[in-house]
Amino acid sequence: MPFLLPPEPGHHQTQISRQINRAIDNALLAERAAEQHRGYLGASSIGEACDRKLVLEYQGNAGEVDAQLLRVFAAGHAFEELMARWLRLAGFDLRDVDPNTGQQYSFETAGGRVRGHCDGVIFAGPDIGVAYPVLWEGKALNEVSWLDLTRRGVMQSKPIYYAQVQTYMSHLQIERCLFTALNKNTAALYHELVALDPVYAQQLSERAVRLVDLAEENELPPRIDDLRECRDCRVAAPCRVHPFQRVVGLAVATPGPRE
Ligand code: SF4
Repeated sequence: MPFLLPPEPGHHQTQISRQINRAIDNALLAERAAEQHRGYLGASSIGEACDRKLVLEYQGNAGEVDAQLLRVFAAGHAFEELMARWLRLAGFDLRDVDPNTGQQYSFETAGGRVRGHCDGVIFAGPDIGVAYPVLWEGKALNEVSWLDLTRRGVMQSKPIYYAQVQTYMSHLQIERCLFTALNKNTAALYHELVALDPVYAQQLSERAVRLVDLAEENELPPRIDDLRECRDCRVAAPCRVHPFQRVVGLAVATPGPRE
């Protein structure tokens, strides 16, 4: 009778892990595939440094999102709900549903081609030194990113989120945003009040309209060839394979105080 070795515990667990993860990822990808391409430029990405990336995304040419990114998005939503619950417990009247629509507070412009859905609006609460209502945006960050935010603030550390809340404030006509960030490693919280910068918000709005116009004309801004941006870019592969589109130049909006 052959001598059978028992399965190694580590090996066995690895197999189970792979098997279950594959099932979860396949289910998430199938769920994603059933969704329609959203067909608009979202305010959450309008502060991205690269015009080309935004045009590719608007056109639906950004390639496939992988399952890990879908899990990251879903975890972010769950953390957002947790932060909102804690703020409500602390006495903030934070509402995430617009009573006029029964849905998230949102806006759309440029014929519905540019849209935004915000995390919530705080209508009353403890004295935080500004008048209500205040827009609310919550993000969950890893340790390094969260620490950088606490050192440099939203505008410098998180320009994409800064642009996002500027766009929301401008369209919802709210002058302040409470930006809350959760450290995913330690559950520590950071809060910052961000003031509306109407000039920058207007620049972002004009940029968004320019980009969706270009996208619909099937024109593609040039590559920025920025080492860091391109290394982390989720549309890097499709970015390299669009020779049929005419390349045009555009200025890139950047946040920050003006002279
Ligand atoms: S790879 Fe670089 S140039 Fe291409 S879309 Fe991404 S950031 Fe822009």
